[in-house]
Amino acid sequence: MLNIAIQKKGRMSEDSIKLLRDCGLRFSSSGKGLISPSSGFPANIYYLRDDDIPEYVQDGIADVGIVGLNVVEEGQNNVVISRNLGFSKCRLSIAIPRDMNYDGIQDLAGKDIATSYPVILSKYLKKYGIDSGIHTISGSVEIAPGIGLAEGICDLVSTGSTLLSNGLKEVEVIMKSEAVMISNPTLDLEKQSLLEKLLFRLNAVHQASTSKYILLNAPNDKIDAIIDILPGMKSPSILPLAEDGWSSIHSVVSEDDFWEVIDQLKENGAESLLVVPIEKMVL
Ligand code: ATP
Ligand code: MG
Repeated sequence: MLNIAIQKKGRMSEDSIKLLRDCGLRFSSSGKGLISPSSGFPANIYYLRDDDIPEYVQDGIADVGIVGLNVVEEGQNNVVISRNLGFSKCRLSIAIPRDMNYDGIQDLAGKDIATSYPVILSKYLKKYGIDSGIHTISGSVEIAPGIGLAEGICDLVSTGSTLLSNGLKEVEVIMKSEAVMISNPTLDLEKQSLLEKLLFRLNAVHQASTSKYILLNAPNDKIDAIIDILPGMKSPSILPLAEDGWSSIHSVVSEDDFWEVIDQLKENGAESLLVVPIEKMVL
């Protein structure tokens, strides 16, 4: 059994549950209990506060966990980062009132900064030799300057709209964060092999989500030019059409250069293009 800790309720819950389900785990997410057994993969899902996840994983109560990199860095626990998961992307930034003058980090010297991330913030300030007051609070950090608790804040930002509506401007990006899979550094052989199995499934899900299956028709004399454009997994499949002199070509295209490839295919005689999502992809 692999014990997997995820956030019980919050910004990461839904994506964490979806990812595990895409990997073939079936479990209840009614969220009442702390632990849900899974079928489809020998695992138990532990629903926890996100801040507690690194410690549970360090102590071996959970074997792996899904949590923000920001929480891992702040917690300083002895855990291994097994994989980036690509969701819950945000950054940890310092922000100050919009009308405050700012020419560089030295302007933060002697100021009070409110944050829920004192460990990461103090490391950052120390790196630049800046001596600021750090005021640790557990939530609603963005209102601290408005109520006179601190002059600046250090908090998570994604779009910046919360900062804007509180009259703040972002002046330093301390770190970029996203959801990561962490694991206990001393898993036994059985759990280690389950973790590898899970990582293998995560790769298949990730590959599939960033690729598209593409089908197109082309006259036979254009096939060579079209094959040159298609990156494919190995080499594209070519099937004859009922109409003489024509073929159907199938391949996989990465989302990054998708539109560019489509344009080139059309310019080179491709017709009736079909683009289909891929559910899983095992290379
Ligand atoms: P808990 O009750 O589990 O302690 P929380 O209130 O501490 O929850 P959430 O606000 O749900 O935490 O955020 C969980 C994680 O989501 C954060 O640690 C961060 O990695 C990520 N996150 C936070 N804010 C944002 C944001 N604005 N955009 C994207 N991701 C974010
Ligand atoms: Mg939390």
